[in-house]
Amino acid sequence: MDPHLNILVIDDETNICEGIKRALRPQGFSVEAAGSGQEGLQKLREGGFGLVLLDVMMPDISGIDLIPAIHQIDPDIICIIITGYATVELAIRAIKQGAYNFLTKPFSVDELTLAVNQGIEHQRLSLESKRLQAAEAEARHLIDEKTRLEELDKAKKLFFRLMTHELQAPLSAIQSYLQLMLEEYLTPEQHKEFLQKCIVRLDEERKLIGDLMELGRLQAIGPAPDTAPVQLDEILHKVVGDLESQVVQKNLKLTVEIQEQLPAVNGSPKLFKSLWENLLGNAIKYTLPGGEVTASLQVEKDQVVGQVRDTGIGIPAEEQGRLFSEFFRAKNAKALSLRGTGLGLVIVKRIIDGAGGNLRVESEEGKGSTFTFNLPPLAKPELQGADEK
Ligand code: ADP
Repeated sequence: MDPHLNILVIDDETNICEGIKRALRPQGFSVEAAGSGQEGLQKLREGGFGLVLLDVMMPDISGIDLIPAIHQIDPDIICIIITGYATVELAIRAIKQGAYNFLTKPFSVDELTLAVNQGIEHQRLSLESKRLQAAEAEARHLIDEKTRLEELDKAKKLFFRLMTHELQAPLSAIQSYLQLMLEEYLTPEQHKEFLQKCIVRLDEERKLIGDLMELGRLQAIGPAPDTAPVQLDEILHKVVGDLESQVVQKNLKLTVEIQEQLPAVNGSPKLFKSLWENLLGNAIKYTLPGGEVTASLQVEKDQVVGQVRDTGIGIPAEEQGRLFSEFFRAKNAKALSLRGTGLGLVIVKRIIDGAGGNLRVESEEGKGSTFTFNLPPLAKPELQGADEK
C-alpha cells in the first residue's frame, strides 16, 4: 500500500479516534491511533505514515507544539489540527509551526474526507516538486561535470600538442646541425661551434624532460613520500651557493634576508629546493648584468613568507594572466633569446599549492618582478617530535 495513505490520529479522546477510523477505513485509508503526543511520536518513528490528525488539547503536550517534532521525523508528513475552538491566533500559531489545515469539532465525515484528501494531494504535489527540483539539480550537476571534463580534455590535448612541439624543437635543431656537419663544407672551427650548439640543445632537451618528469610526479595525489619538517632558510642558502657562479658571471648583487628563528614548514626538501631553484634561477636569468636580486624569508600573520625580488626585465602586464600556464614564455623573455621550458613556474605553483600555501606575483615590464609565497608553519609539537628523532 502507498505509505502516504497511512493516517495516524493523535488524540487522547478515544471516541474521536474511533470515529475517524470508522469514517476513513471504508474509503481505503489505513488509520491508526495514539492516545498521547509521546505515543504518537513513537509510532511515527517506526515510519510509514503520510498524514497526522492532531488534537490541540492533550494532557502531555499541545498538538501544535508537537508539529516540529513530527517534521523532524519526516518533513513531508501532513499535519491537520483538530480543535474545538478555532481562533485566528490559534490558526496563525499552528501554521507557523507547520500545520497544513484545521478541522473544527464537531466535523462531518465529508469535511474530514475533504481535509484528508486535500492534505494527501498537497503532499503528492510537494513530493513531486521536490523530485523535479532534485532531478533538475542533478541535471545541472551533470552538465557542469560534462563541461569540466570537456575543459580538462581540451587542456590535456593542448598540453600534449605543446609538449610534442617543445620536445621536437631541440631535436630538429640538432638534426640540422649534424646534417650540415655531414656535408663537409664546414671548417674545423665551425665543426666545433656546431658541436657546441648540439650540446646546448641537448641540454635544453634534458632540462625539458626533467621538468616534465617533475610535473608528472607533482600530479600524484597526496603528500610527497619524503615529506618532513623543513627549514626553508637552510635550503635557500644551499641553492644560493649552487647559483653563485651565475650571479658572479652576470655581475648581479644578490642579497639574502632571513628572519631569525624561522619556523619549519611541512613538505618535501627536494620540492622546496626545486622551488628556490626555479624562483631564484628565473630572477638571475631575467635580470640584466649589474642588476639586483633579493631573496627573503620571514613570518607574517602566522605564515612563513618567502619572496624573490629582482630588478630585471619584468613581465608585460597583458601576459601576466598566463604566467602559470604550461610552456608559457613572455615575449620579452623570448626576445632576450634566453632558453627556458616554460614549466618552472607551473612547478613552483604546484609545489606551493600542494603544501597548502599560495603564490602571487607583482611585476612591471622593464622594472622588475617580485614573487611571493606563503606557507603554513609547522605546529610546534610536531617540530619538537621531529627534532627528537
Ligand atoms: P622559463 O623556463 O621560461 O623560465 P618559467 O615557467 O620559469 O619558464 O617562467 C615562465 C615565464 O615567466 C618566463 O619565460 C618569463 O617570461 C616569465 N618570468 C618568470 N620569472 C621571471 C622573472 N623573474 N622576471 C621576468 N620574467 C619572468
